[in-house]
Amino acid sequence: MICLGCQRPLPYFKTLCFSCKKQIYHLSTNAKSSDLLTTLFSCQEPLRSLVISAKVERSWVASLHIKKIFLHSHEAKKLSQWADYITPAPSSLWSRAHLKYDLAYILAHHLAKKSSSKLHPPPWNSGWNIKKQSKKKTRRLVPTNEIITDNNQSGRKILLVDDVTTSGNTIQKLARYFPNDDVRALCLCSAQ
Ligand SMILES: [Zn+2]
Repeated sequence: MICLGCQRPLPYFKTLCFSCKKQIYHLSTNAKSSDLLTTLFSCQEPLRSLVISAKVERSWVASLHIKKIFLHSHEAKKLSQWADYITPAPSSLWSRAHLKYDLAYILAHHLAKKSSSKLHPPPWNSGWNIKKQSKKKTRRLVPTNEIITDNNQSGRKILLVDDVTTSGNTIQKLARYFPNDDVRALCLCSAQ
């Protein structure tokens, strides 16, 4: 095994070395938040490498580790308890085209599972239908009974979840699809 953060060899089965783990916790933004958006980490090394492994190289182990870091966050817990619904930012065209899992979805799915919030699909996501029709591997990740489609309601507390944000544009666009709801957003890291 090699460390997914610094690529140094590890003597036992681990994803990250102790030093990278420690560094990642130092990248915590102490939950920097605006009215709408809360970001948990700054997207610097070694977290950056871990995110690239998950998103670009599609490393399942890296995704699981990120999920663990994300769910461990106090701010994530607080927001998920506040929310009625948790909605992942829509997947990229690349994932839609290749029917791959998506990091934002994994984070949203597990956060919803851990709290009593329900998973709500992104409002515009043509990839969603493709995903639901795809093979068992995806279906295991996307239990259809968790997907609610009542887009005409109002007054709900909706938490949008994304993996990496640069300008916050995606989140702001996404928030506009829920004009009658109370919307907040949670992002794993900021790459500003
Ligand atoms: Zn390392």
